[in-house]
Amino acid sequence: MDSLVNTDESTGGIPASKSFIHIHAGIDASDLPTNAVRDWDAPEGVESPRKLVLCSMPSLIDPSLAPEGKHVLHAYVPATEPYEWWEGMDRNSEEYKKKKEEAADFLWSAIEEYVPDARNRAVPGTVQIGTPLTHERFLRRSRGTYGPRAEAGKSTLPGHKTLLEGLHLTGDYTFPGIEIPATAASGAIAANNLISVGQHYGMLDKIRLPTKN
Ligand SMILES: Cc1cc2nc3c(=O)[nH]c(=O)nc-3n(C[C@H](O)[C@H](O)[C@H](O)COP(=O)(O)OP(=O)(O)OC[C@H]3O[C@@H](n4cnc5c(N)ncnc54)[C@H](O)[C@@H]3O)c2cc1C
Repeated sequence: MDSLVNTDESTGGIPASKSFIHIHAGIDASDLPTNAVRDWDAPEGVESPRKLVLCSMPSLIDPSLAPEGKHVLHAYVPATEPYEWWEGMDRNSEEYKKKKEEAADFLWSAIEEYVPDARNRAVPGTVQIGTPLTHERFLRRSRGTYGPRAEAGKSTLPGHKTLLEGLHLTGDYTFPGIEIPATAASGAIAANNLISVGQHYGMLDKIRLPTKN
């Protein structure tokens, strides 16, 4: 119980993390975006195709990600693009190129709600458009999928042991599912299934934090 209330690290407690500063303000809305999500009432809600675009400019946080005076940016729809819209297209066809341009135009228009002339600022040769076919080809994800859409309470992903002795499964199609932390956890579970508890302890004893200079 002590560890729940003792925040003094020097006596074995767990220090509390720091607090926050916030600003909540009323501002003039003229010329600003009218929607965070393009349509909250779309039939599939937040999963409706092209109703939500995530934009980020990581070089604002880490300038080493872009040459001086430049930024890198990324905008995407978060696992809402239907594969069917692209299925069967020849990647070298005019039809596909046109559809990619249309997708680019859609994403640029979302970015331009925040950086109005973003398209004109693009550094020639740096613009790359990904599609479900890109995901399928380069990430080898079946039908370009983000991964298994297991709904809490409705379905559970398979575990890591199989009927075949010595064959173990891991990755985001096994429990606990999508995302790097979950995938790492699935790898850890599979690894733990391979060795004994004593061996786990032995491994933990080998882990050392790097010494500070
Ligand atoms: C666009 C996108 C954004 C994401 N963003 C985040 C994020 O912000 N944070 C986060 O935590 N997670 C994110 N994820 C999820 C995360 O990337 C995945 O859950 C995770 O990478 C799954 O790891 P995995 O090892 O199971 O599969 P994968 O990373 O898909 O690795 C499987 C590997 O197997 C290879 N492969 C497939 N078939 C074969 C074959 N027949 N022969 C040989 N090799 C093959 C593939 O090429 C691939 O390298 C994102 C995923 C996507 C697609």
